[in-house]
Amino acid sequence: MIIDSNFLTVLNELYEGVYILDKSRNIIFWNKAAEDITGYKSDEVLGKSCKDNILKHVDKQGKELCTSECPMLYAMKNNVAVSDEVYLHHKSGFRLLVKVKGIPILENGKESKGVIELFTPVISSSDYDDDLFNLALKDTLTKVYNRKGFDFLYPIRQREMTMLNFHTGVLFFDIDDFKRINDTYGHDAGDKILYAVAQIFVKSLRHEDIIVRWGGEEFVLIIFVKDFKDIQAIGEKLTKLIESTFVDCNQSIIKFTVSGGGTFLKENETILQTIRRADEMMYKAKCQGKNRFIFDIDKI
Ligand code: GH3
Ligand code: MG
Ligand code: MG
Repeated sequence: MIIDSNFLTVLNELYEGVYILDKSRNIIFWNKAAEDITGYKSDEVLGKSCKDNILKHVDKQGKELCTSECPMLYAMKNNVAVSDEVYLHHKSGFRLLVKVKGIPILENGKESKGVIELFTPVISSSDYDDDLFNLALKDTLTKVYNRKGFDFLYPIRQREMTMLNFHTGVLFFDIDDFKRINDTYGHDAGDKILYAVAQIFVKSLRHEDIIVRWGGEEFVLIIFVKDFKDIQAIGEKLTKLIESTFVDCNQSIIKFTVSGGGTFLKENETILQTIRRADEMMYKAKCQGKNRFIFDIDKI
């Protein structure tokens, strides 16, 4: 089946995952968003048959669809568009709930010569409760994303938010004197503080923002803003919020602070370069006396 290359270029720009199956259900196109959402690169799936069960589509009752009731096969056979919510298999091993839509590609307006499938992750609160999703992508102590979660979620969210004309801000926070806190109050108190800091971020930021436990007592926050100045305002607000709180551990009231740095994603740089710059700003905040937030203001 030959598909117009301009059409494929457009499909590559969508933030929905898209793939095309020919009549024999071989995958003949796999867009960039599909790579991000599933973890599979196009060269790993092109030419394979969807009935080889690569994506292992499973319905909400746990029934495998690829080998039996494939919705795409149904769309093709009956020349009708179908839509459903199914779980697909991510390359990292967890299940991911996606909304799928299958649209038959008709030959002369009649018989199907293939099918195009669009899919987009359903990241709802119930999805966050999925055990395998949590196990793979979230940090068990703080309940925010781990680095693997960041690797998975960032490209998807970033593409969506850029299309909506948001800028990508990065905040890097490190808890101050955390070794002393552990040594003074014990490791359990340290753990409680880590959880409290993470939850302050969760409660203060928006659903679209991404909160990551980057290392031991370090957090990276990806925030989507309309105005660069919001990055500084949010960073300062979070620093103050944390300063004003405490945890109660074995009758001790423990106060704690963080140092933070902020910047934003520039054209032609990778997100890891931006994170490194935010880390450098955080280091400046440490050098200037801790419990403060420094924004990379001269880089705007
Ligand atoms: P600074 O203000 O310069 O950041 O000093 P710091 O003491 O916070 O930094 P340092 O890197 O010396 O210590 C970090 C500490 O964080 C040491 C490590 O034991 C502790 N830590 C890392 N992960 C955990 C964890 O999961 N739980 C607890 N309780 N402590 C942790
Ligand atoms: Mg540190
Ligand atoms: Mg520290």
